[in-house]
Amino acid sequence: MTRMSHAIFNKQTDNLVCALDVDSEYYKYQDKRDKFSCKFCGVQVQFTRGKDHNDPHFKNWPLKNHLCECAIPNIEKQKEEFENYGEIEKLVSTILPRSQRLKDDNTTININRANRAKEFGGRRSRKFIYSLVNLLDSRNYFNLKKDYEELELLIEDGNIIKLKDLVGSQDEVIQRIDATNGERVICILRGNTRKAKTIKNNIVIPLTRGKNPAYKNTKDFSLFIRWDYVEKNKEFIESIENALVICYGEAKTNQYGIELEIFSIKSQIVVLKKYDN
Ligand SMILES: [Zn+2]
Repeated sequence: MTRMSHAIFNKQTDNLVCALDVDSEYYKYQDKRDKFSCKFCGVQVQFTRGKDHNDPHFKNWPLKNHLCECAIPNIEKQKEEFENYGEIEKLVSTILPRSQRLKDDNTTININRANRAKEFGGRRSRKFIYSLVNLLDSRNYFNLKKDYEELELLIEDGNIIKLKDLVGSQDEVIQRIDATNGERVICILRGNTRKAKTIKNNIVIPLTRGKNPAYKNTKDFSLFIRWDYVEKNKEFIESIENALVICYGEAKTNQYGIELEIFSIKSQIVVLKKYDN
């Protein structure tokens, strides 16, 4: 069942509320929990804090269906075209974060980072990325299998992107950042890691670089774990060194070059192949 990150509250269509914000002010909404509706079609939806109160989102109100022209049932329908229904269902029912959250940069950075950590470091992220692994072709450098390239995913602002435009190697992700005027992009990066380095208490894991443009790894790119998330991740760092990995997250430019920030190795990274050295 499709999860929604945002909903209309109290019929105020110009002011969407985010599930993460409702969760942090849960008691404020306690007796108004029947006041949320789908931002695409207006049908009533319900807020849930998710498992262990750690996975807030909106979901269908029991026995109330989205209207047939709504983006939600339309995106869900795709699962019926494929044999591996379960995997596809997980992918298409995860609405990817993008612009709505990014607009909130005018709140405080701390809140924003914590929310981003929840989005990418949570259980849902892990399910999403592990479902994706099964759509990669292990006999063809773990590229996305042709059959799934056109699979469509919904993002927060209501736009639709194709799965093939989300997955990419470092050069492709950098190209997408450039195309958005040097800001950030949500992506699933596929690349080969080198040994981790500690720089000012942060962990930087560079990707390998090559000169052959065909391999799309000619540019510098690193995975980045900021100091405040190092402790939580340190036991897993070795497992992702010198490996072919895919990572789900937000890539952007910072003082160390282009990086993808990791809040949780377990939820954001899958090792596809480990090299011995
Ligand atoms: Zn709807």
